[in-house]
Amino acid sequence: MISLPLDIQVLILPFLTSTSLISLSQTNHHFRHLIDPQRKQFLDRLLELECLPEYGGEITINEHAKIIVPSEPVSYACTHCLKIIPHTRFDNHALLRLRFRKPPPESRVRQRLCDWTSGDAKARGLKRQADLRNDTLENWINQNFASDITVSRLQELYKIGTHRNRRLCNECKFTTGFWARNAGVRSQSWRGKSRSSNIGTANVPVVKGRQRRCHDSTERYFPGLFPVAADAEYPWRWKIYREENCDWWTLWSIRCPGCGTWQERAAFRKGSGYGVKATPADPDEFRQAGWDGPHFEDWRCNSCFVTSVGKEELGRQLFAFWKKLADFEITMFNQLLPVGWYAVDGIERATEGKHSWEQIVKQDSVSSQLLRRIPDGKEIAKMDVEQRRHYYGVLKRWLDGLDGPTAVLSEVMDRHWFRPWSKEYLILEKRIEDLGACTKILEADTDRLVRFALDGSASRV
Ligand SMILES: [Zn+2]
Ligand SMILES: [Zn+2]
Ligand SMILES: [Zn+2]
Repeated sequence: MISLPLDIQVLILPFLTSTSLISLSQTNHHFRHLIDPQRKQFLDRLLELECLPEYGGEITINEHAKIIVPSEPVSYACTHCLKIIPHTRFDNHALLRLRFRKPPPESRVRQRLCDWTSGDAKARGLKRQADLRNDTLENWINQNFASDITVSRLQELYKIGTHRNRRLCNECKFTTGFWARNAGVRSQSWRGKSRSSNIGTANVPVVKGRQRRCHDSTERYFPGLFPVAADAEYPWRWKIYREENCDWWTLWSIRCPGCGTWQERAAFRKGSGYGVKATPADPDEFRQAGWDGPHFEDWRCNSCFVTSVGKEELGRQLFAFWKKLADFEITMFNQLLPVGWYAVDGIERATEGKHSWEQIVKQDSVSSQLLRRIPDGKEIAKMDVEQRRHYYGVLKRWLDGLDGPTAVLSEVMDRHWFRPWSKEYLILEKRIEDLGACTKILEADTDRLVRFALDGSASRV
């Protein structure tokens, strides 16, 4: 290209992408001076680069309306620090709004070339004005209209990715004062409609992030400390509206006021077992007495904390945090364990006398026929775990022998969580046991918690 006359070079340059324009400007002195790349061209190159497969796809919303943590690395460009960095350093809006998303190859922005023009700033300004006049939605639709594409898709392709030059990472939003202007928790409307999803104070932004699927709060706040088993090994959870054994927990990125690093809420040893929707601004305990706010300015990440109080105290606090969560889960599962027994006494009425608990026990084995008196469901509910398990075995054998339990038992199946309870009784028992065993392991080796906390596992967003 260097052998071409200068006026031809000047004609060719606008037909390069920003990436090739910058590369050419870096090949030699001549092109560096001719092209004289500006910040905008470096920025445009970065926005071209983030669309390359090596930076991963996009952050997406799944069929449950959850913004998920992708299993592959996904990175985006920050147009303030001019770097391509992991998605975890951005808030949801910066990645999910149509104009901030990575545009596909057939979109308008992806078809754009570098807007290099020879001449001074005035010449460049005039060229940009002319481009803007031609770059209307109407023109775009006319030029790209085809029978196999809808107008709404064309509108989307026109808009997608066009505001990426305003995308900032969380830290750049901090240094430019964005979070300070949008600090929500102290405003009087923080329980009202206008509460922003990003909470925290001007100095300690607390930013809503992606969502991670976890079986319970110990997995949520100690991710990876213990291996996660298959879904089938977790009992259902007792929740309003839902009976599932797994849920999507929101992750929060918090800028530690001690060291200025952004870390996940778990790295601050704050969180509770009762709700996936609990924000860091909510108290850790349900109805905490005398609670007057989250006091984010006093929060310290594990690394800051260990510097000021030492490993032993960090270990103690981490263990207390673990135990609080595990005990909550155990208490909840222990409440679930007896519930189905209250439905057992209703079998007789629901089957119009065809079946009854007494008859079920008696026909189970010879030894139960010798029982002088058969305990009813309410009595079994109060028995200890071992005794209860015996009667569960009786019930389970009977249920398994039925052609269709739902047809026989009708509404009993939906009473007192009978359906999940009758299926997952032993899973519940085992989970209670496992959580207790984990607590014992950690109690004997709090160093394990300290290592976990300091190697960054807890702080991963
Ligand atoms: Zn020079
Ligand atoms: Zn940045
Ligand atoms: Zn810190």
